[in-house]
Amino acid sequence: MDARLKKVKCFLLDMDGTVYLDGVPLEGAIDAVERMKKQGRVIFLTNNSSQSKPDYVEKLNKIGFKVNEDNVYTSGNATVEYLNTYYKGKKIYLFGNEKLVKEFVDGGVLLERENPDLIVIGFHTAFDYDELTHLCDLIREGVPYICTHPDINCPTARGFKPDVGAFIALIEKSTGVSPILICGKPNKPIGDSVKRMLGLESDEIAMFGDRLCTDIQFAINNGFVSVLVLSGEAKLEDLPEFGQEIDIILPSIAKWDE
Ligand SMILES: [Mg+2]
Repeated sequence: MDARLKKVKCFLLDMDGTVYLDGVPLEGAIDAVERMKKQGRVIFLTNNSSQSKPDYVEKLNKIGFKVNEDNVYTSGNATVEYLNTYYKGKKIYLFGNEKLVKEFVDGGVLLERENPDLIVIGFHTAFDYDELTHLCDLIREGVPYICTHPDINCPTARGFKPDVGAFIALIEKSTGVSPILICGKPNKPIGDSVKRMLGLESDEIAMFGDRLCTDIQFAINNGFVSVLVLSGEAKLEDLPEFGQEIDIILPSIAKWDE
């Protein structure tokens, strides 16, 4: 095993392309995750703030991984942690679906529609035009906004659906105002949130992922041990263009402790 992985106490795992492909576990991935659990905490990390921890627990267990809610962390969870750290007691207007609203309420965030101190934009999969208009009104009136994650599109069976990054473009076009912070990968806040939650230093955390511009960039931005797996999107020939040093490159997650 690589010496940098020996002192790791938390393994952050991307999902699609890293532990499964099209909903089918990659060969050896389930056992690999079980071996990680013997060394430290395993967290499946996702930018998708339209799904909640129980959704991912169910999805992962259904295909054979043995996980509970401690093993899942979404950009929505990280945003709640961020708000509880920096905006405790402040009134938040949340633009997000019912699942995200529940996670915010369960997390102790004070929600307010008319007169908020801050706006949070999540992956809202069920809004109507009045709600979008109200959101833009608040922003134009000077309420700052943060976003759960930057992804422009979310993959679907047919192709893509518009994600938070596309909402940001619309809001910027309409209001001329940009978000003051975006929480999810590749940005730092979701990593800082994991560190605070677990009380760990950067070099005690490893990020395994198959995408250079999100997973690996995220590891680099946070000083985590970066582990690229070649089981998904990135290929070896993509590395020169990426141009940044990656700590460990593996054919798949199954080989992490060899
Ligand atoms: Mg991936």
